[in-house]
Amino acid sequence: MARYNDAVCRLCRREGVKLFLKGDRCFTEKCAIERRTYPPGMHGQGRSKTSEYGTQLREKQKAKRYYGLLESQFRKYYEMAVRAPGQTGENLLAYCESRLDNVAYRLGFAMSRPEARQLVTHGHFLVNGRKVNIPSFLVKPGMVITLRDKSKSLEKFKQSLEANAFRQPPKWLDFDRDNATAKVIGVPQKEDIDLPVEEHLIVELYSK
Ligand code: SF4
Repeated sequence: MARYNDAVCRLCRREGVKLFLKGDRCFTEKCAIERRTYPPGMHGQGRSKTSEYGTQLREKQKAKRYYGLLESQFRKYYEMAVRAPGQTGENLLAYCESRLDNVAYRLGFAMSRPEARQLVTHGHFLVNGRKVNIPSFLVKPGMVITLRDKSKSLEKFKQSLEANAFRQPPKWLDFDRDNATAKVIGVPQKEDIDLPVEEHLIVELYSK
């Protein structure tokens, strides 16, 4: 599948917000957005006015890049969100948040979402006891996500869980850190999402 392979810090600078795409580095003073608060490119420091369309576009790009999604994937979630009961914008964020790669990141198994995606692809996680290696797999209430027994002893996971111990898992995941197991006990709500995003702007953009 196609992926964005350019310098990811440019994406944070473009959106004007930390998207936490580089793991440890995002929490240090080496973070590019801490050092250069303006957008990348030769006109980065000169841009000022933004149209209504531009504002909506930036909000969509921010959410999409935060979750590491391509346009087609993000659009698909929007279409699912329209069909689902409830508010489209909140449904859209809930779908993004329910992805297995995001869950692995939110639980602290990985230092970033791109890393979490790779770990899922490598088959380190079980859902309801069965291996799932599809990052876009959507978890639902009642499902149990576990780190595979063989993976529990890997130094990588011990280090990540320790380094991420300060991050609280969201309320919709009941996490047993000692057993590296989480149960989905609800549906992600807007307040559980740690990205400042105005989802109604995304809906306005797509519904034009
Ligand atoms: Fe974004 Fe992390 Fe790069 Fe900072 S270090 S700009 S948060 S990807």
